[in-house]
Amino acid sequence: MYTCKDSINLLLDFLDGELTPEDTQHLREHLQGCSPCVDFLRTYRATPGLCKKALAQKMPQEMSTKLTEFLRSKIKSAS
Ligand SMILES: [Zn+2]
Repeated sequence: MYTCKDSINLLLDFLDGELTPEDTQHLREHLQGCSPCVDFLRTYRATPGLCKKALAQKMPQEMSTKLTEFLRSKIKSAS
């Protein structure tokens, strides 16, 4: 079973169309039992133009760290 951290990494690849069919299957299995990750996916998809490459180019390191912390706390509080 994939952890939420693994799944978020997979999600970012998935949304970029870079995920293998095998990993897509693992991700789907995780999402079936994990509402925080489903919420993250919904928020992510609702933000136009947001993708991993855009994040890498535009997001300052500090913001990237804050986003990771936010997701981590969200996952933690939901469990
Ligand atoms: Zn999860």
